[in-house]
Amino acid sequence: MAHLVTLVPGDGIGPEVAEAARVVLEATRVDIEWDVQEAGAAVMEREGSPLPDRVLDSIRRSRTALKGPITTPVGTGFRSVNVALRQELDLFAAIRPSRTLPGVGGRHPDLDLVVVRENTEDLYAGIEFQMGSEATARLREMLRELRGVELAPDAGVTVKPISVTGTRRIVQFAFDFARRNGRRRVTVGHKANIMKFSDGVFLRTATAEATAYPDIELQAIQVDELAMWLAWEPETMDVILLPNLYGDIVSDLCAGLTGGLGLAPGANLGWEYAVFEPVHGSAPDIAGRGVADPVAIVLSAAMMLRHLAERDAASAVERAVVRVLAERSHVTPDLGGTASTSEMARAIAAALLPA
Ligand code: ATP
Repeated sequence: MAHLVTLVPGDGIGPEVAEAARVVLEATRVDIEWDVQEAGAAVMEREGSPLPDRVLDSIRRSRTALKGPITTPVGTGFRSVNVALRQELDLFAAIRPSRTLPGVGGRHPDLDLVVVRENTEDLYAGIEFQMGSEATARLREMLRELRGVELAPDAGVTVKPISVTGTRRIVQFAFDFARRNGRRRVTVGHKANIMKFSDGVFLRTATAEATAYPDIELQAIQVDELAMWLAWEPETMDVILLPNLYGDIVSDLCAGLTGGLGLAPGANLGWEYAVFEPVHGSAPDIAGRGVADPVAIVLSAAMMLRHLAERDAASAVERAVVRVLAERSHVTPDLGGTASTSEMARAIAAALLPA
């Protein structure tokens, strides 16, 4: 039976790399029925929203989506279309693997780590108080009354909620992921010494939940120290579990350690739905030129195949990417080559065939 998958090409370089992923997936012969759903800036002009309900409805039907980047046009009422999509579908876990690939000139030949980022809480929860607003004036009064704190009159405020419930599920997710993938250690990054009541909840909940996984080591580390280790000896890291904001920053850092944004895949997962997408954004500087690196979305598609239990095809796609990167003759300009997006995609598709 065919796998029903929603394909959201997105905008900027999105449609170019999404087409590349489709070319590679078709070459795997895995039977996929695509439901293509446009979203983003052009859709905003036509339909009044960059993320129309039909896109979410399609993912609720298919349960699985492959997605390109989506820019959030100004004045849409969305802070970020990507964040809205994650919240609507309750995709509470972002998985971003960073592995050294051949021929890309990274400084760390043996890197193989995975960042697991909590996707729904923390400073991304969207609880913002604009400087000078009526709501902020009331917040100032409340803080004065409750805590004796005097907030500067010209301050804007973002609230950082982290709950036991929100943390428990991401911790379970990270440890289950570690166990399923034969990984040994989960490193939890936090700043609980400073933010006792938000990061403190994260750290305490992680420590409590980890007792159910005696086979996986829990390492708790302050996020600033984690940054130092990632610059110094990243190959010592295995699974890194982080609240939303630290996860965002650290996963881009890890993408940089292994060859840049053009190579970094990602998955946003919840208990019900899964959306696979590259870590990179819409890269307006190179959009429309056919030079975007397709590897990030192709490796995201490989993660999707594994999620659909098409493990052999997933491994075959990963091996084909490795071959094309190692040969270096069909790579895009970000990797020092001259191939176009579609030429590189066709080379990956051709490398899927037995030699
Ligand atoms: P957004 O605001 O949507 O995140 P951005 O331009 O701020 O977009 P990215 O699109 O993530 O950030 O990328 C930053 C830069 O990295 C791009 O401008 C581009 O030069 C480079 N880049 C990102 N993705 C790719 C890719 N797939 N291939 C080649 N270069 C890329």
